[in-house]
Amino acid sequence: MDVVCLDLEGVLIPEIWIEFAAHTGIDELKATTRDIPDYDELMTMRLSILDKHNLGLNEIQEVIAGMKPLEGAVDFVDWLRSEFQLIILSDTFYEFADPFMVQLGRPTLFCHRLEVAESGKVTGYKLRQKDPKRASVKALKSLNYRILAAGDSYNDTTMLSEADAGFLFMAPDNVIAEFPQYPSITNYDDLRTALFAARG
Ligand SMILES: [Mg+2]
Repeated sequence: MDVVCLDLEGVLIPEIWIEFAAHTGIDELKATTRDIPDYDELMTMRLSILDKHNLGLNEIQEVIAGMKPLEGAVDFVDWLRSEFQLIILSDTFYEFADPFMVQLGRPTLFCHRLEVAESGKVTGYKLRQKDPKRASVKALKSLNYRILAAGDSYNDTTMLSEADAGFLFMAPDNVIAEFPQYPSITNYDDLRTALFAARG
């Protein structure tokens, strides 16, 4: 059976930092992996902005508590899990993702951890490994699985290149233009069709 590796934010759920930026009115927090390809640079910037505004994990989790998966995502995940094995490969943090995992029926999630002080201040973050999405696909391939992958952003492109078939899903124009080798898909029905056609 093929394994499908899916990105989370922008594919199944809204971008958490964009939602948080909207709630707090801090425009600088709107930047995502879609804008800044270097994840370390992006996270370092986010943490310094949080610090400057005296915001921590509790404030972010309050916003997350009011968020829902994208329209159609729950049905799509249900369908996927009836046809494939599904693993979500995300650059988010377990401290953010849990409410979404409950709503999505707790699929397997590989992501990162935040370092948080008792006060709730986010003091740092621990990436699980370097180039985690690519490394995960590589590891699964070493177990003799075929991998189909979809994501929307710069941080997904090494996963797409390592997979047996890779798709951009609801990606912004700059990513589509830079990575024309991956078919660009804009809705769950078309992604269903593409995954079906690509299965081994
Ligand atoms: Mg994404």
